[in-house]
Amino acid sequence: SGGTGTAPGAASGTAPGVTVRVPAKVNVQLAVGAARPDGFHDLASVFLAVSLYDEVTAAPADRLTVTCEGPDADRVPLDRTNLAARAAELLAARHGLDPAVRLHIRKAIPVAGGMAGGSADGAAALLACDALWGLATPRATLLDLCAELGSDVPFSLVGGAALGLGRGERLTELPVGGTFHWVFAVADGGLSTPVVFGAFDRLAEGRDIPVPAASPALLDALADGDTTALAGTLANDLQAAALSLRPELAATLAAGTGAGALAALVSGSGPTTAFLVKDADAATAVAEALLASGTCRATHTATSPAPGATVLRAGTPA
Ligand code: ATP
Repeated sequence: SGGTGTAPGAASGTAPGVTVRVPAKVNVQLAVGAARPDGFHDLASVFLAVSLYDEVTAAPADRLTVTCEGPDADRVPLDRTNLAARAAELLAARHGLDPAVRLHIRKAIPVAGGMAGGSADGAAALLACDALWGLATPRATLLDLCAELGSDVPFSLVGGAALGLGRGERLTELPVGGTFHWVFAVADGGLSTPVVFGAFDRLAEGRDIPVPAASPALLDALADGDTTALAGTLANDLQAAALSLRPELAATLAAGTGAGALAALVSGSGPTTAFLVKDADAATAVAEALLASGTCRATHTATSPAPGATVLRAGTPA
């Protein structure tokens, strides 16, 4: 897809528009430093993209609109605060265009679940609008725009695995030597990321917080594709904070490990929980056990790494 809008489907009467598929993420390590004077925290975040995807379609329209479908669609804002809408406005402003586009989100990533669903839609909308409008914006510029939208947005564009420093937005891609299998347990409701960081600050009060750094053993486990080694090194500094706000998540974590998961952790700021398992069969078994335990609302099985935001289908531009 060269960003010109000429693509499979263009000739066959498909609805005009560009569809981009974008993955969720899990932080296999999330090291959180002390609060900075600006209120943000320095992070060492090891992102891994997983095969749980949202899709964003951009189509020509008179004005900017956002619609959303999926089990959590009622919890997604459809105004200008939606990250997909903000991405369209940012890209349009950059090129002196009017952001006249219809954005439709097919949402599978849990909302406010710690899997960067909103960030994913921002990255997807950026790429979809860039293709729809035939802009061919350089990759480096797209990454800058992503960082402006939010700390997790650049990774949604890049996918795979990456170490994020700063607020998580300064990315270095990481090698991954195999496929990892996951189960995700979706909790009722969401958790606000700033609220979880606030709980982290309260728990950290009076303690010495080390400068965040990536774990060499964890990076080796990723590079080797070694599930057992990765299971032994998973770490999320926000987990205690998320559990302090949602103590019932402890039962979900225990249900997953009880069912044979090699490791369990809160995904990002939660409340989604992530379970690393040996293979696809183990994923099915752990997902069934988690649902049967009654400690979660839904489960997803997924593999990683997954590719970043990708144009799936480009119809005829208006
Ligand atoms: P992260 O893991 O990056 O901290 P998250 O996965 O916990 O994020 P999101 O799903 O990104 O959380 O949503 C956080 C809030 O952002 C939502 O409660 C919602 O109000 C707002 N939001 C804006 N745009 C979107 C979007 N496209 N999809 C979902 N939520 C969005």
